[in-house]
Amino acid sequence: MSDRSVTDDQNQAELNEPADRPRIGVSSCLLGEPVRYNGGHCRDRFLTDRLGDHVDWVPVCPEEEIGLGVPRETLRLERSHAGPRVVASKSGTDHTDALRGIADRRREQLEGLDGYVLKNKSPSCGMFGLPVFKDGKRVDGKGRGAYADRLTTLVSWLPTEEEGRLSDADLRDHFVERVFAHARLRNLLSGDWRPKDLVEFHARHKLQIMAHSPEAYRSLGRTVAQAGARERTELAREYREGFQKALTHKATPGRHVNVLQHVFGMVSDHLDDERRHDILDAIESYRQGLVPLTLPVALVRHHCAAEGVAWAREQTYLAPFPADLGLRNALVKR
Ligand code: SF4
Repeated sequence: MSDRSVTDDQNQAELNEPADRPRIGVSSCLLGEPVRYNGGHCRDRFLTDRLGDHVDWVPVCPEEEIGLGVPRETLRLERSHAGPRVVASKSGTDHTDALRGIADRRREQLEGLDGYVLKNKSPSCGMFGLPVFKDGKRVDGKGRGAYADRLTTLVSWLPTEEEGRLSDADLRDHFVERVFAHARLRNLLSGDWRPKDLVEFHARHKLQIMAHSPEAYRSLGRTVAQAGARERTELAREYREGFQKALTHKATPGRHVNVLQHVFGMVSDHLDDERRHDILDAIESYRQGLVPLTLPVALVRHHCAAEGVAWAREQTYLAPFPADLGLRNALVKR
């Protein structure tokens, strides 16, 4: 890649970075804090060494926050008539309500976040597949941590993932993309925005939304068309809900190809045959699963910048998160 394209990539990424960095809640032990029952931690290098350069963490250890010290008894999920309870394995003390209460106490803070990363396999923080016991025997493998359960009920719209699942390139890409998109919208709606700002936001996110849900793009377009005529708070609520819901749909390879062809259509008149074929070859290779998404995206981004195709250049789709996170460089299983 030439020096020029590197500069273009950096400019595009900076353009799309929210002024106020994304705020992500996180299980404290994942940042290396020695808060586990045995005084250890579970530092996650992707979170601390890569994502951490671009976001502000809000660490929470619910077990520490309810007053359990370090070291402490291990906890586990026990089956009961009222659903799984979090119980200390030796003393039998039930900590369920206290752990759920931490999420309630932090509700306002949770509503100001752009994402959350939880520690897997924890009876407090784990989201999926925890063992549930009865009379010392494992009776079920579908439990959920008490804090995680309450958190995901209170802020069901918040991009939330377990750290173990973030080792999957596809899930990691989707999570990080949603976090940065949430932060951009939060930045806009928490300021003194005007209807034209929302129209502009929607226009810049056109391709990104279309890659996730073309139907949602059309529906959000109808909301934005009423921007000057509706009460601001209600309009913002409707747009935010629709935008967040749209991004929960995974962007499929087929939709990426449609979007890339759309951008190609914007820039192709500016290019000679050789460069046109380069782009079309890259899109086709991506469609066949031979190259990662980053290749055709980098190519169209470079040509849009070089040819001054302003509308396409400003699309968040071409740089949805900082390039140095190194996402989208892997081949995704189809
Ligand atoms: S998993 Fe949750 S409760 Fe357990 S040590 Fe980590 S932050 Fe604390």
